[in-house]
Amino acid sequence: MLSPTLINCASMPQSKPILKVAVPTPLRRSFDYLVGHHPVPPIGCRVRVSFGRQQLVGMVVAHTETSSTPQNKLKPILEAIDSEPLLPNHLFNLLVWAADYYMHPIGDVFTTCLPSLLNKGEPAELEPEYCWQLTEAGETAFPDLNKNAVKQHKILLWAIDHQGIIQASDLEQLELIPSQLKPLIEKGWLQKEAIKPTPTSHTQISRALDLNPEQRHAVESMQKSIGQFQGFLLDGVTGSGKTEVYLQLIEKVLTNQQQVLVLVPEIGLTPQTVQRFKRRFDCDIAMLHSGLTDRQRLNIWLKAKQGLTSIIIGTRSSLFTPFANLGLIVVDEEHDVSYKQQEGFRYSARDLAILRARDEQAPVVLGSATPSMESMHNVNQAKLIHLTLRKRAANAKPPHIKVLDIRQRHLNNGLSQPLLENMQHHLDNGNQCLVFLNRRGFAPSLMCHGCGWIADCQRCDKHMTLHLQQKRLHCHHCDKQVFMPKQCPECGASDLFPVGLGTERLEQALIKAFPKKKVVRIDRDSTRRKQAMQDYVTAIKNNEVDILVGTQMLAKGHHFPNLTMVAVVDIDGCLFSADFRATERTAQLLTQVAGRAGRADQPGEVVIQTHHPEHPLLLNLFTQDYQSLSQQILAEREAGMLPPYASMALFRAEATTLQYPMEFLKEVSQSLRQIAGLDCFGPFPAPMAKRAGKMRAQLLCQAQQRGLIQRALKSVISNIEQLPSSRKVRWSIDIDPQDP
Ligand code: ADP
Ligand code: ZN
Ligand code: ZN
Repeated sequence: MLSPTLINCASMPQSKPILKVAVPTPLRRSFDYLVGHHPVPPIGCRVRVSFGRQQLVGMVVAHTETSSTPQNKLKPILEAIDSEPLLPNHLFNLLVWAADYYMHPIGDVFTTCLPSLLNKGEPAELEPEYCWQLTEAGETAFPDLNKNAVKQHKILLWAIDHQGIIQASDLEQLELIPSQLKPLIEKGWLQKEAIKPTPTSHTQISRALDLNPEQRHAVESMQKSIGQFQGFLLDGVTGSGKTEVYLQLIEKVLTNQQQVLVLVPEIGLTPQTVQRFKRRFDCDIAMLHSGLTDRQRLNIWLKAKQGLTSIIIGTRSSLFTPFANLGLIVVDEEHDVSYKQQEGFRYSARDLAILRARDEQAPVVLGSATPSMESMHNVNQAKLIHLTLRKRAANAKPPHIKVLDIRQRHLNNGLSQPLLENMQHHLDNGNQCLVFLNRRGFAPSLMCHGCGWIADCQRCDKHMTLHLQQKRLHCHHCDKQVFMPKQCPECGASDLFPVGLGTERLEQALIKAFPKKKVVRIDRDSTRRKQAMQDYVTAIKNNEVDILVGTQMLAKGHHFPNLTMVAVVDIDGCLFSADFRATERTAQLLTQVAGRAGRADQPGEVVIQTHHPEHPLLLNLFTQDYQSLSQQILAEREAGMLPPYASMALFRAEATTLQYPMEFLKEVSQSLRQIAGLDCFGPFPAPMAKRAGKMRAQLLCQAQQRGLIQRALKSVISNIEQLPSSRKVRWSIDIDPQDP
């Protein structure tokens, strides 16, 4: 008699499922593989597969019984890397959903969202962290150390000063790498010991502030939602104490034994932010930033997943950190454009944060002094609960705002006399002034007096910015840099002069205008050095600086108690723009910059120079508040059927000549136009048609309903991928684009 199992095997040659595997390729699909002799990897596990001539690490996204690929063409996987799913279920599902919604290749979505060591196939195992303990022999040896053994002296001294222990995190301060401790271990002076990770239980260390009534109302409302999903918009003017509200809410979530994710804009991730959290809570707080090594990043990721880290603070991509028990997501400065990734997988971390909170049954708080129109709209639709903080905390008064008409006035390097007098007044009182200009470099271009030649970037439709200090011309769009020419390349004249105003030039003008005052410039150029920003901030707080010149790096999140005046030198360029988001962006920028003036008990003053004092935006912004202005902007968007009252998708394509992207996008628009209810605009050359040597075009699709765009694009996407004209271009889809 045959045993039943044998009969089964005979009738079913393949009892193992076929694996659908997401591999990092530009194709919007997964690929089928056989399990082979490996144990069946569950959905959500990584596998190594051969793909063409390569070996790639992919992610199992589904099991299936049948494949459209003939059985004899299917290849077995090479290795099953994980035996358990790498991501918690709902996070895995969110990524699959996002790949579909943003119409991005799913393999690339995983690669973008996972730590790079996991993409390389490294095991998802926490590497133990080590510390080094001073031995008795080390302690005895210290007094007799040879004077020349400087490094060893430094190491032992540190250990003696720190209860005999050197932590891994101390090494950076000691300017050492772990291998440099080896000789001391060999001598028996130090002992390397693994630290066993333990879940941190938090205790509050510094005392919470007494909340004012608005803050208390906010914390109490949000607290009720701990353990369930609810979205909040914390709409609070600068200095109203939003961060204090986050901290007190976080404390409640930690007490509930849950973890917290805090997202901050790229520019907002300062050591100051983290210090504020560390001072308040004695628990494991990790900061995810670009300076981490791959191993550090993976360890933080794994610790969060295992519940060993209580708070993660990070930029956009931190949203994809797995948590054992996530209890709250905070999106600080939710209006910030850096939450939208602008290349590759073009997701919005703010939008996905709301979905993630829903899946994790946790509250999500979007905070801003200048909320985005999308969030205001969600408030109007009752999708977010609106909590407002109208008063500045600690009784600080709102700044006084003055629009300064500079028509027909003489400008010295962009500065008018009344502006300088105004600054003088504040400086005389021993206060600080901030001079804001959103353009770095010395001047936005260089021109020849002899023939009118202007320094253009060869690879972009833009001028090159003059950086006088470095004696270079720099294209801020493609990063091309050349030495500053001494003579005109056209006519040979040596009479070249800078045109326009940048922060470097403004800095020089201010040094001349206020020779006795200390001026510092803060922009991307002056803060390249790792510690630079921190050093500037400390100097400003210690009152070692009188005048700050800078770009929007200064417009965010800093508290300078002695800063009483903000001067906005040139806003006119922002008032007239074809982009329908320009009003929103300018209103946000001006409100944010203005918010730097007058904190603590010093009243502030904001002076805005303009040639258009009657411009409605300027009039409205300062006769009303941002909130009523945003309702006005929303009304205009509704009338024009623009987002958030419509949905958009943008196709971009580029090649060495404009012809190819235009041809490709024309075919895309032809296949889309037949779909009812969908409007297609273009193809047009992009606003900056030439960039980094490539010619670019775009096609805008718009519909009243999100669902319609999704259905329309999905019905044509595989056709588009196979168009012969698509092979001649690099192309992408941007769902909910931020800069059409
Ligand atoms: P925001 O994040 O809204 O800009 P912050 O939370 O940074 O505001 O608060 C601004 C300043 O006011 C900080 O110096 C903070 O310590 C202080 N502050 C906040 N809340 C209170 C409060 N309830 N009582 C006293 N000071 C407060
Ligand atoms: Zn010339
Ligand atoms: Zn360029």
